[in-house]
Amino acid sequence: MADPQKRLEQMIRRLKEKGGRLTPQRLAMLRIIAESKGHPSAEQIFEQIKADFPTTSLATIYKTLSLLKDLGEVLELNLAGVGSRFDGNKPYPHPHVICTKCGQIIDPEFEPMAGISREIARQTGYKITHEQLNFFGLCPKCQQEGQAPE
Ligand SMILES: [Zn+2]
Ligand SMILES: [Zn+2]
Repeated sequence: MADPQKRLEQMIRRLKEKGGRLTPQRLAMLRIIAESKGHPSAEQIFEQIKADFPTTSLATIYKTLSLLKDLGEVLELNLAGVGSRFDGNKPYPHPHVICTKCGQIIDPEFEPMAGISREIARQTGYKITHEQLNFFGLCPKCQQEGQAPE
């Protein structure tokens, strides 16, 4: 995991370059995205911001996420049945492991994505623009719950 403080500083720098305003709401949001604990959805980020900034709207969250995505500062994961989840801690393509029971998403310490994309582009002649590598299963907690007697 990248240092959330460094990620936050990087995001602030990029937003300022683009003339983006840095309101207290937006700063609070950037803090959450820089850490991206558990790969939150826009709604989950909204829920966390709303506690401190009741006037924030979900549309503002989407707008900022979209801006960060254009800047390459957040990675969007599109997951069937789960929807969009975001990772601003590691904004570049990387594998994800997803629990099909509780929806937890984690990053394994394994990052061969650049090599895989290069090899696939070489084999197929495609110009690869983006990629997702997802692994689905049951997290350790859900496995234990499955085994516990009723
Ligand atoms: Zn689980
Ligand atoms: Zn991730």
